[in-house]
Amino acid sequence: MLTDNDMIHLKRCVELAAEAVAAGDRPFGSVLVSADGVVLKEDRNRIHSVEPTYHPEIALARWAAQNMSAAERAQAVVYTSGEHCPMCSAAHAWAGLGRIVYASSSQQLRQWMQEVGVTEPAPVNTLSIHEVAPHLEVQGPVAGLDQQIKALHQQVWQKAD
Ligand SMILES: [Zn+2]
Repeated sequence: MLTDNDMIHLKRCVELAAEAVAAGDRPFGSVLVSADGVVLKEDRNRIHSVEPTYHPEIALARWAAQNMSAAERAQAVVYTSGEHCPMCSAAHAWAGLGRIVYASSSQQLRQWMQEVGVTEPAPVNTLSIHEVAPHLEVQGPVAGLDQQIKALHQQVWQKAD
């Protein structure tokens, strides 16, 4: 079950994903929240504006590893517009962060790409968070918000034509 606060943080992730698209990056945004509900850090995809591995999820994992105690990290929650990729799942797990809540799944993204015939060669396999980090507590996708993410991806794919 997601709480009202969970939804507030997820909606912020969708806003960050939209900001990323407006800046020429990909529609992914994430928020790191402490055990007592304080937003500690947020970021968005910057793979074009900064460098190709700049995913918000790994940026937050690194920030947490550098700025939070192990106990604080274990209680923290990362909200994200799209399920972590393998790189970011691994970073989240190595950083010892807590629960992940995502609006849309990696499997959904793959389906959406197939629906519209996007055939981007992916250098990394699509894996669920649990295939990479089996012990993490994960929630998602979230009906309604997932469709907002889909619409943002569609904007990017239409631009690419
Ligand atoms: Zn990633």
